[in-house]
Amino acid sequence: QGKRGTADIVVWGGERTRHPTQWLVVQAELRHALDRDELVLFYQPKVSLSDGTICGVEALVRWQHPERGLLPPAEFLPAAEQSGLIEPLTAWVLRRALTDQAAWAAAGRDWTVSVNVSARNLEAADFAGMVEALLAEFGTAPDRLVLEVTETAMVDDRATSMAAIHRLAGRGIGFSMDDFGTGYTSLERLRGVPLVELKIDRTFVATVLEEKENQAIVHAVIALSRGLGCRVTAEGVETAEIADWLAAAGCDEAQGYHYSRPMPWAQISVPIPEEAIR
Ligand code: C2E
Ligand code: CA
Ligand code: CA
Ligand code: CA
Repeated sequence: QGKRGTADIVVWGGERTRHPTQWLVVQAELRHALDRDELVLFYQPKVSLSDGTICGVEALVRWQHPERGLLPPAEFLPAAEQSGLIEPLTAWVLRRALTDQAAWAAAGRDWTVSVNVSARNLEAADFAGMVEALLAEFGTAPDRLVLEVTETAMVDDRATSMAAIHRLAGRGIGFSMDDFGTGYTSLERLRGVPLVELKIDRTFVATVLEEKENQAIVHAVIALSRGLGCRVTAEGVETAEIADWLAAAGCDEAQGYHYSRPMPWAQISVPIPEEAIR
């Protein structure tokens, strides 16, 4: 990775950036990045554990920085969230994702596209209006779009967030609870949220074969999803053994390096090799 050391990776614009001047530099550069179209979307397939087909893809943003190379979201999302740039950033991601979704739908691929949204997005005055306008512009069937939210995204201003979620869910847009089990929250927060999916965080999935506690947690989340009437997806599936265990446990879908790393849309349109799918 050239002259970029690991310490630098976590510091530049990331969670641990402490120097206010550097923070401002990141924000200023990010503003330009949006204008200059330096952001790129990668996609990671979501695979059905029952038949190995791709059901959808998750959009994951990266920044093709002119000097620093391809930056992961951890390096610039915290700065974006702090500065309000998360609003134009999410608008950009949605526009890009719906453009690509239209292309693969036209090619006969009925995949959903999942987009990550932040707490700040859900609290913004016209988030729902913006999403509706984009769906209308692209002629996207609402159920082809899934918005991934976290438990903590609904902590700050729950009334506003819930209003946006209900309005969009009422139109048929799917909502997914991301990183489920890692938020500092209770099950109470799930009540009243119209979900199509629960995503089991990869911290539980990675060691599910070795750790009894994680097996219990995964079983419980699967049972919970049944009760809520939504599907359940495991993230961070890195081996065939874990995929097999999850399939036997009744998990619906999986995502992870075992199937595919996130990659540009041009590459994802190529089928995943058969042997990667059980
Ligand atoms: P996430 O939504 O939980 O996304 C999953 C992360 O795990 C991604 O990291 C993905 O590349 C990585 N991953 C996927 N499969 C595996 C695996 O098998 N093993 C391991 N170790 N990791 C795997 P990434 O792309 O760096 O994204 C990090 C986080 O940044 C995402 O976590 C999400 O919270 C956030 N993010 C990404 N794109 C966006 C975006 O467009 N908007 C917003 N608001 N947040 C985003
Ligand atoms: Ca996600
Ligand atoms: Ca996740
Ligand atoms: Ca995560």
